[in-house]
Amino acid sequence: MKQYKHRDHGIGELSDADHQSLSVDWVRVWPFVAIHLLCLATLWVGWSATALVTALILYLVRMFAITAFYHRYFSHKSFKTSRPLQFAFAILGASATQRGPLWWASHHRFHHRTSDTEEDPHSPRHGFWQSHCGWFLGQRYFETNFDLIRDFAKYPELQWLDRYDWFVPVILGVTLWIAGDMLSLFLPQLETSGLQMFIWGYCVSTVILIHATLAINSFAHRFGSRRYQTPDDSRNNLLLALITLGEGWHNNHHHFSGSARQGFFWWEIDISFYLLKIMQWCGLIWDLRAVPERKKWAHRTGTKSTVVEEVLS
Ligand SMILES: [Zn+2]
Ligand SMILES: [Zn+2]
Repeated sequence: MKQYKHRDHGIGELSDADHQSLSVDWVRVWPFVAIHLLCLATLWVGWSATALVTALILYLVRMFAITAFYHRYFSHKSFKTSRPLQFAFAILGASATQRGPLWWASHHRFHHRTSDTEEDPHSPRHGFWQSHCGWFLGQRYFETNFDLIRDFAKYPELQWLDRYDWFVPVILGVTLWIAGDMLSLFLPQLETSGLQMFIWGYCVSTVILIHATLAINSFAHRFGSRRYQTPDDSRNNLLLALITLGEGWHNNHHHFSGSARQGFFWWEIDISFYLLKIMQWCGLIWDLRAVPERKKWAHRTGTKSTVVEEVLS
């Protein structure tokens, strides 16, 4: 197990070249800008219960895919599964339009190694916008950091999904459009259309999903309580836990990141973990890692968490 030093530096100590690589690369981020602008089309397409329910379901399913698969599985290996299901989980995660599983997990592992130091990609100490979305809109973090994700990069199907990270979102968008057209044709009483299903089901749902996920970077290191004396600024926040299906227990998570469960205590609602337990009962996943008792009760024994858990193989 390696130890990583946490330094209390600000971003002001970066070189000019570093600052340049952090600045927003407008050519490459046009899809991110475009999907936000497309949400304005709700003014033209109107709404229907069908479109809103579709948007809500797609938010919940894809939030679960991000928290349970991109985060707890690919980033932290907190449970095991078969290779076909691993690929299925990666496809579901990719539908969230947060780039590929290797990109997501490699940068997240880097966050755990460098949390709230000057090297952290998205510490709120670098400013709200840098931590929320500035970090991935620049050149510096555009590429997958393969050195940090070798354990999963050995699978060609995951490399393919990472390389063509636009493929699954495009399929989802087109499917919603076709489904909306079909519904308007065969079930006109639902009062929806292809364009309306695309705008609500894909664009609005995805934008809310992205910002809820990003809120863990920008808010969960700033607002909430700190049970464990981690070397970073991570916090536990019930509201964030509810909207992200369990990710708001971020101080717990930084204290012991290898746990499949982020709500360490029964009152800490962690919907992703409950669903993972059901998947375990069904035999889809196994070897869910738990938080060791000595770690769970470290705040009572006065033990500081000084070691960043190393998850890499
Ligand atoms: Zn964090
Ligand atoms: Zn994590």
